[in-house]
Amino acid sequence: MSKAIDQALQQEVDKRRTFAIISHPDAGKTTLTEKLLLFGGAIRLAGTVKARKASKHATSDWMEIEKQRGISVTSSVMQFDYMGHRINILDTPGHQDFSEDTYRTLTAADSAVMLIDVAKGVEAQTIKLFQVCAKRGIPIFTFINKLDREGRNPFELMEELEQVLGIRSVPMNWPIGSGRDLCGVYDRMKNQVELFQGNDHSTIQVQKVEDYNDPIIREMAGEYLHDQLAQDLELLDVAGDPFDLEKVLKGELTPVFFGSAINNFGVQTFLENFLQLAPKPQPRSSTAGLIEPSNEKFSGYIFKIQANMNPAHRDRIAFMRIVSGKFQRGMTVKHVRNGKDIKLSQPQQFLAQDRDIVEEAYPGDIIGLFDPGIFRIGDSLNQGGEVVFDELPTFSPELFAKVTVKNALKHKQYQKGIDQLTEEGTIQVFQTVSFEDTILGVVGQLQFEVFEYRMKGEYGVDVQLQRMPYQFARWIIDKDIDPSKFRINSTLVKDKKGNYVVLFENEYAMRTAMEKNPNAQFLDTAP
Ligand code: GDP
Repeated sequence: MSKAIDQALQQEVDKRRTFAIISHPDAGKTTLTEKLLLFGGAIRLAGTVKARKASKHATSDWMEIEKQRGISVTSSVMQFDYMGHRINILDTPGHQDFSEDTYRTLTAADSAVMLIDVAKGVEAQTIKLFQVCAKRGIPIFTFINKLDREGRNPFELMEELEQVLGIRSVPMNWPIGSGRDLCGVYDRMKNQVELFQGNDHSTIQVQKVEDYNDPIIREMAGEYLHDQLAQDLELLDVAGDPFDLEKVLKGELTPVFFGSAINNFGVQTFLENFLQLAPKPQPRSSTAGLIEPSNEKFSGYIFKIQANMNPAHRDRIAFMRIVSGKFQRGMTVKHVRNGKDIKLSQPQQFLAQDRDIVEEAYPGDIIGLFDPGIFRIGDSLNQGGEVVFDELPTFSPELFAKVTVKNALKHKQYQKGIDQLTEEGTIQVFQTVSFEDTILGVVGQLQFEVFEYRMKGEYGVDVQLQRMPYQFARWIIDKDIDPSKFRINSTLVKDKKGNYVVLFENEYAMRTAMEKNPNAQFLDTAP
């Protein structure tokens, strides 16, 4: 391929940023996403943010979608341009539709924005999502939101990031005052003061200063707030971590920004810093080593499968993250697992409100492919090659239920349903070693409901689910597995591939089992 084309590809790669926002429900993810989209004039939305927000009851909503054949519940990706960048925000469903999909989506991101409510600090769902990101070592940028409200002391929040998540932080800006007294932030990188004005805190006055001792700040914020600010920043200068891009990119240090999404305060500063610091699309590892985005041969992998866009045909949409090369509509690629060439023609589309068709796309972009049932999660597609990307991790389910079929004659349909739903990655299936019972594992309660509903609706099978008290699954690697050692508040099962897995009722049972089996390895994702 010619040099000129290489350069064009490189330019497209360089300008892209693909990230996910991780947070606990109510921290302000929808609000922040909306503000970010406003800066750029969204190009493509996979289900509007608003539409998703309106769906308070995801189950009924899912059924509603069944009827309407409309927008997906788990909307998927939003794309917009800003200051010469092309930005892809991957949606990470929260609330009731929290699922393994949420975790898996993070594998398609090159960085994450961790959104924290200033009053609540680090919350449960944030911890789970953070850990998935930390495992991959992707950079994490923190936005502390709702600064217009009374909240926790910023130092305390930094301490919490370190204690709970184990990540050091470096504040990029610092609040001047707090809650009702909040009047702005001090930008530590640019040495400037950004002031709020008016009750809605929206108008911003930006003032360059010498440093945080500059008397101008005194005039702007008053003596008391300035003294406080100078004290805090001096302490940060002396005792805090200096900004270190290398550590940020390794996920060892998180830059922290303070702001208020709803008042659009600090959002633009955050976005501009983020675009500058966040990594462009990163290589992915494969059987052929690391595949760089600038590799001119197109490649990508499927990280999510969305069922039932058109249930009449059992159609699905497979979401592909482009890893390298240029995607062009109509191109022929190899589906490596089944060894066939497929033409990515008419049907593939960006899953969008009006489902517009993508003509071309580049590394870091996500494309929705029409899937007549040929894709599985983790499948690799490439142009003239046999590259297989590393398998996507299978995460520990958190809820478990024993499943039985009410009518034994329906066993065949039941098996078919189970197979398809596991392929889509919404449920995991285990067999107990002792009685060959079938146990389903999911990450969110909704998946059980969707399972029951779809088994009946699509396969005509009535199933009964009986909740089991387990909370964790650990894949065990051991030369001699002794089932008798996994009986107390735990049970030994096998996953679909025949790996041994132990389900535990609580952490205590898990620790005890680890102590009793010193030669075994306990993994929280499938080997
Ligand atoms: P999500 O569940 O994380 O998507 O959160 P939302 O964006 O729906 O926000 C949850 C609630 O917090 C809503 O009532 C928002 O209006 C409110 N909210 C979001 N950002 C701010 C903020 O900066 N300040 C205040 N006071 N409220 C906010």
